[in-house]
Amino acid sequence: MKLISRINVGLKNNFHVAQSMKVLVTGGAGFIGSHLVDLLVERGDEVTIFDNMSSGRAEFFAHHGENIQFVEGDLLDLAAVKAAMPGTDLVFHLAANPDIRLGTRVTDTDLKQGTIATYNVLESMRCADVKNIAFASSSVVYGEASEMPTPETYGPLFPISLYGASKLGSEALITSWVGTFGLKAWLFRFANIVGARGTHGVIFDFIHKLKADPTRLEVLGNGRQEKSYMEVIDCARAMVHLTESTNDQVNCFNLGTHDTCSVRRIAEIVVEETGFENVSIEYTGGDRGWAGDVPKTMLDPSALFDQGFTPNYDSEGAIRHTASTLIQEIGLP
Ligand code: NAD
Repeated sequence: MKLISRINVGLKNNFHVAQSMKVLVTGGAGFIGSHLVDLLVERGDEVTIFDNMSSGRAEFFAHHGENIQFVEGDLLDLAAVKAAMPGTDLVFHLAANPDIRLGTRVTDTDLKQGTIATYNVLESMRCADVKNIAFASSSVVYGEASEMPTPETYGPLFPISLYGASKLGSEALITSWVGTFGLKAWLFRFANIVGARGTHGVIFDFIHKLKADPTRLEVLGNGRQEKSYMEVIDCARAMVHLTESTNDQVNCFNLGTHDTCSVRRIAEIVVEETGFENVSIEYTGGDRGWAGDVPKTMLDPSALFDQGFTPNYDSEGAIRHTASTLIQEIGLP
């Protein structure tokens, strides 16, 4: 896709640009990235998506036609990342392996697709004198936190998954680039993000299982795992809101809701939304879905809310909305 239009807008923050903002979104063809791209285009930004299409989908951004630029490239290809960077005002870095479970079988994916990919983004920014980065981190950096709800100030941070290690490693690289090369950074520690265009995650998995067999639903673990959830458009809105309203050298925020939802409740909601009756919900047992899964997370989103942001959905509302939306997208027999 080629860029044909430039729209001039006033900016609410202190970026050193006079007119329209040039934004590079790594992973912009993915689930969360594509919703972010929708908001940035609506704001009038010049948007470039950089994505290798490993889990991204063209139909998630095709509706923008020639209003955006699409670079099909891999973040592990440093030359390709460097070529995409000049003239960028702000990088939203979302590309990564999204599958936490993969780390139990393949041990170098998160290191490469997470940590090394982030290094390549930062090094390309340094070479092109690009100063602003917003990063999609995760609540998994907290590991099994002893303080709940968990605030951004919680520590020490001891992640228990390889994915979590790659997020914490990326955060550390970013703050080191802030300290050494004068970048400004936003670190967003996401709750579990759910919503339209979802291509992975617990609700997506449950719907596919029920599609294959509407009589039974297997749930990994004992169903008591309990986490914070946030609806994907709320997540994208929060990212845009915070990059507009905060301006420290490092701006670190939990992106989530005030409540949690258990896997047991999610299973019930998904079954209700399918309309299937007499479904047997069966639990595999154990306190976590897989090795490295954090059984209970509850983020403290007060800092986000204090910036004047209100999500449209709480955790349970986000799950019900997502279940009905994904059932439509996936289709049931
Ligand atoms: P996603 O898989 O839909 O999006 C990731 C995108 O990055 C995809 O379009 C994929 O093709 C692209 N990509 C992956 N590796 C790449 C590479 N080497 N080079 C270029 N492009 C590459 O996943 P998502 O759920 O939208 O996640 C986006 C970000 O948010 C990720 O960094 C993820 O770790 C983080 N995150 C997601 C959640 C969640 O609940 N979905 C929670 C916490 C953090």
